[in-house]
This record gives sequence, structure tokens and C-alpha cells, in this order.
Amino acid sequence: MSIDRREFLKLAGISTVLGFGGVSAVTGLRRTLEASDVMPNPEALVAKKWGMVVDMSKFKTEEDYQRCIDACKHVHNVPSIDNPKKEIKWIWEEHYENAFPGNEAPYLSEKIKELPFLVLCNHCTNPPCVRVCPTKATFKRESDGIVMMDMHRCIGCRFCMAACPYGARSFNWEDPRPFIKKEQGNYPNPEFPTRTKGVVEKCTFCYERLAKGLKPACVEASKGALLFGDLEDPNSEVRQVLGSRYSFRRRPELGTQPNVYYIF
Ligand code: SF4
Ligand code: SF4
Repeated sequence: MSIDRREFLKLAGISTVLGFGGVSAVTGLRRTLEASDVMPNPEALVAKKWGMVVDMSKFKTEEDYQRCIDACKHVHNVPSIDNPKKEIKWIWEEHYENAFPGNEAPYLSEKIKELPFLVLCNHCTNPPCVRVCPTKATFKRESDGIVMMDMHRCIGCRFCMAACPYGARSFNWEDPRPFIKKEQGNYPNPEFPTRTKGVVEKCTFCYERLAKGLKPACVEASKGALLFGDLEDPNSEVRQVLGSRYSFRRRPELGTQPNVYYIF
């Protein structure tokens, strides 16, 4: 079903007036981007709950990080904006103290303190961002747990950004299109929509690639440093690794239940 933006904003306004309890008024309108709609392809990769494992032992050089970041930027037309107040981040480097606040042991090794961690949306099982969105522009797919972002439904209220404790969402303060890097060829990528001023964006676990039978772009570029698979399948690679090595997640004390795990 499609509605024009004005009609949708009207509904969103009603929803906001009603308070968060009123969001069900627009629930029935959002059906695109559900896995069942975009995955008619028999080759599509499917899972009950997608998750990622970041193997920090495999990140040895800056290039190892950059390869993953650039792959994501390239396939999703993520702009490169130098101003930290306006930058758009889907997957990025974060130092330990920012990635895992509250975990700083007094005698933490310099290596850990200095090591950048690769961070992204955790596709939380219990996502606070989804709960606060008045228009359901961000929602969790029932089929595979991906926390999606429908940019066409985003009204730019930024409630989701305030609710996410991981800084995993970015707001387009200006038109991002002029900031899409041209050096890496084929920019903008015609297979993924560009965004506009006034909308929030973030990692969507490459739902569009999964629908084509491809793993996420960052995973493919990582040369084995990022693992991706079904956390509900005990035979999947991610489960095998998590079952045999010590792992940790970002801010588990918050109860959001992140589905991105870190190992050393
Ligand atoms: S990391 Fe943030 S944006 Fe991603 S699902 Fe969790 S709360 Fe939402
Ligand atoms: S899973 Fe896809 S969208 Fe998410 S950070 Fe990796 S490449 Fe970007």
C-alpha cells in the first residue's frame, strides 16, 4: 500500500497527538521492507535471528577496518561528511571507553585502550529505538530480527536517536547526496536509494543483499574478521564460535540484548 507524504504526515501527527499508544493507527500502513515482501527470491539468505560476530583478533591494520567501512559506504551511498556533528555513520571505529562505557578497568592494557572497535547497529532483540518511533519508520522484522529503517516514513523527529544508547543512528542535517564519495567508482550506487535532508539512517544488516543471497557487504569485505549467521541455529558458524570462545556485547546491562558480539 502506498500513501503520499502529506497524507502520511497527517497520520503521523494524529499518532503523535495520541501519544506512543496511538502508533497502532499507522501499523497497517507499513508493509514494504518486511522480509516476506522483499524476499521472493529462492536464493535469499534466511534466518530466524540474524547476528554478527566481530573477531577483533583479525583487525591488524587500519586497512582492515577501512575495507569494511568503505564496503558499506559504497553499497549504501553513505555520505562522507567530515563535520562530527553532521557525519553519517553506519559502521565505524570507536575506542574501547566509548564502545564499552563502564567497563574501563583501572589497569586496562594500553593495547585495549588504543584499539579501535568496529561498531554498528546491534539489531537489538529489545530495541528502544523501535518503541519510541511515532510513525513506525523504524521497526523490527518479525521473521529475522533485523531492525529496519524506512526512510520514507521517517519524519525526522529523532526520538529514535535519543533512545538508542549506542549512537547507531545518524540524522541528515543537510542533503547528503553531494557528500557521496565519487573516487571509488560507480557513485552513487544505482541499486540503493540515496536519502534526503531530514531523515534518520543506520545499518540495516544489508537486508537488500540478503534478499539476493549475498552476505552483508562489510562481512564480505572483512576477510573473515566479521562473521554473520543465524543465532537461532546451533549449527551456524556464529553459534559455533560463540559456543567455543569468550564473547561480550555492548552495554548488556541496559537490557537491549544486542545481536552483535565481540571476541578476541
Ligand atoms: S543499536 Fe540502537 S538503533 Fe540499533 S537496534 Fe539497538 S537501539 Fe536500535
Ligand atoms: S551489515 Fe551491511 S549495512 Fe550493516 S554495517 Fe555491514 S555493510 Fe553496512
